[in-house]
Amino acid sequence: MLHSFASDCHNHSACSPDGRHTPAAMLARARELGLYAYTLTDHCECQEYWEKYRERAQTAFGAMEALAPEEIRFCRGLELGQPLQDLSGAEDAVKRFPYDFVIGSLHNLENREDFYFLDCTRMPLEEIHGLLREYWRELLEMISWGGFDSLGHLTYPLRYIQGEQGISIDLHPHKEAIDQVFLALIQKEIALEVNTSGLRQKLGRTMPDLPLLARYRELGGRLATLGSDAHCTEDLGGGIDEGMGLLKEAGFTEFAIYEKRRPVMLPLE
Ligand SMILES: [Zn+2]
Ligand SMILES: [Zn+2]
Repeated sequence: MLHSFASDCHNHSACSPDGRHTPAAMLARARELGLYAYTLTDHCECQEYWEKYRERAQTAFGAMEALAPEEIRFCRGLELGQPLQDLSGAEDAVKRFPYDFVIGSLHNLENREDFYFLDCTRMPLEEIHGLLREYWRELLEMISWGGFDSLGHLTYPLRYIQGEQGISIDLHPHKEAIDQVFLALIQKEIALEVNTSGLRQKLGRTMPDLPLLARYRELGGRLATLGSDAHCTEDLGGGIDEGMGLLKEAGFTEFAIYEKRRPVMLPLE
């Protein structure tokens, strides 16, 4: 890693349905890469919490507890998907184990499937903009609930709409709505994640990208976390150095990792 404090705070092991390697293998890779801090954040999709993810979360936390981290700052995290789609599940999930870090994510709109499965190629452009408006609105509700530490991969729908399906989206009409998301994060002291997975995918940029990071900073945003969203050892740490460079370009001098649900600020050097 180029940066002394390079840290990966969003990634998945085989404790997630779409992860490939064990927590121990992921931790070993983090150490091999020379990451300063490593946080594992397996999925907890709240709309399937009681029937599926409650047990999975237990397995994942048990696996993290069994690890013996040496020469690395290791933190135990969770990626909480769609908390408002089962609020009782979300609240149970975050208080059940003593996590260091909880990411709040929105992978699918209420009563819709994951953007991953949504085919927008046959939709009129206005309908796609409508989905994005709904996305910002649900994010605002999530933030006002506030039971998480960092907002995961803002602009996630673009990974599929723009990256995978090649539909060019102008975010200009959404500027005000995105500002509302940033202001809500700042007011609630919730961090914004720089998700670097887009750099190795067809999208070709981070989620959110540099102009949005700069806008968040301009509005007063100070808390930012970084994550590769790797689902295998090969992708771990991917794009973290570049993400740190983008934060610097956006005017940040430090970023955050979380321990015991509190931010620990580290320099972007
Ligand atoms: Zn996610
Ligand atoms: Zn993830």
